[in-house]
Amino acid sequence: MVARAIYSFACINCGGEILDERLLKLGLCERCLPDVGDIDLQQAIEILKSGGRLKRLKELSNLYTSYLEFREFFRKAAMGPPGGLGQAHTLGGELRDNRPNRNR
Ligand SMILES: [Zn+2]
Repeated sequence: MVARAIYSFACINCGGEILDERLLKLGLCERCLPDVGDIDLQQAIEILKSGGRLKRLKELSNLYTSYLEFREFFRKAAMGPPGGLGQAHTLGGELRDNRPNRNR
């Protein structure tokens, strides 16, 4: 794929410039993660965390960890993981309470 555009302030981790093809893939610029390969976002977060380069994605990582803890709690209480509606309700509430604040 040939890069068609560069977006400023768009990397989901550092907020820097990012090529359109990388924005469509994981949203991480080349400075944050030089090789995205076939990894998913959770794997990218682990790589960034291990390299000490986790910035804005830290909030998403914390949210995902909270979700996994809740899912385990729900599984033990209800003897099964929450369904799609339960997942959406849980994550929707977390997202409303943890919206990024650009003034921090
Ligand atoms: Zn970046």
